[in-house]
Amino acid sequence: MLRSLTWAWKGLLPPVAPLSMRSTSSEANRRGKLDNKVAVITGSTKGIGFAIARRLAQDGAHVVVSSRKQQNVDQAVAALQGEGLSVTGTVCHVGKPEDRERLVATTLESYGGVDFLVCVPAINPIVGSTTDCSEQIWDKILNVNVKAPGLLLSQLLPHMEKRGQSSVVLVSSVAAYTPVAKLGVYNVSKTALLGLTKTLAVELAPKNIRVNCLVPGLIKTDFSKVLTEDPVISETSLEFFGVQRLGEPEDCAGIVSFLCSPDASYITGECIVVAGHSPHL
Ligand code: NAP
Repeated sequence: MLRSLTWAWKGLLPPVAPLSMRSTSSEANRRGKLDNKVAVITGSTKGIGFAIARRLAQDGAHVVVSSRKQQNVDQAVAALQGEGLSVTGTVCHVGKPEDRERLVATTLESYGGVDFLVCVPAINPIVGSTTDCSEQIWDKILNVNVKAPGLLLSQLLPHMEKRGQSSVVLVSSVAAYTPVAKLGVYNVSKTALLGLTKTLAVELAPKNIRVNCLVPGLIKTDFSKVLTEDPVISETSLEFFGVQRLGEPEDCAGIVSFLCSPDASYITGECIVVAGHSPHL
C-alpha cells in the first residue's frame, strides 16, 4: 500500500479515483464533442448508416436509428446499446409519410428534441439507362432518394429550429459526379442531392441550421456487394483509385460526426467526397 502510494506520488502510477468518482462504461462512452445532442439517422441499421450511428453515439449523441425492417432495427439497437451507447430505434421506410411521422414522434418522446438529421438510404431497383426506365421506377427512385430527405426535414424543422445550432447531412455518391453506365436514374437522384444540399443550405442558414453532404465512393456494404465481390471490378477499381483499398463504412462516419460538431460551425453547403480518389467534378 505504502509502496503504491509512493509510486503514485512520484507520478509513475496513475492515481486511482475513489469509487464514487469512477464513471460507468456508459458514462465514459458519453463524453464527447456531441454530448447531449440528439441525432436522427435514417437507413441506419446496416452499412454506412450503422457506422454513422455508432460514431455519433460514441461521440456523445443520443441516437435514433431506423430502417424498413423491425428485425434490423432491433438488432442494431441491441448491438449499440450493448456497447453502452445511448440509442433507440423505430421502423421508418423513408418513402412513407406515416413512418416519417412515427420517427419524429419517437424522437421527441425519447429525447425531447432533435439537433441532427442524417439521411442515408437510397434505392436502385433496376439496372439500366434512364431511357429504359418506366415512370413508376422514376417515381420510386426519386421519392425515396430525393424527396424523402426533404420531406422528413420539413417535419423535423420546427423542432430543430428551437435548438439553436442544428445540422443536416445528406448522403449522395460519386455517381453524382461520374455517372455509372446502367445506373441511369440512380445517378440522376444522387446529382439532385448535391442540388438539394446547396438549396437547403441557403434556405436554412438564417435559422442557424447547416446542411452538408457526404459523397461516398465504393464502400464495402451489402448495397455494393455486387461490385466489391466481383474480382474484376474490385481490381479495376483499385487501379483507378489513388488509395489502394476499398472503403469501409467507418471511413464515412468520422466526417459526419465532424460536420455535426461545433468544429464545423462555419461550414455549410459543402459536398465532401470520401472515395480514396477525387472524382471528375
Ligand atoms: P446498405 O448497406 O444496403 O444499408 C442500407 C440501409 O438502409 C439498411 O439499414 C436498410 O435497412 C436501410 N434502407 C434501405 N431502404 C430504405 C428505405 N426506403 N427507408 C429506410 N431505410 C432503408 O447500404 P449502404 O451501402 O450503407 O448505402 C447507404 C447510402 O450510401 C446510400 O444512399 C447509397 O446510395 C450511398 N452510397 C453507397 C456506396 C457504397 O459503395 N456502398 C457508394 C456511394 C453511395 P432495411 O433493409 O431494414 O430498410
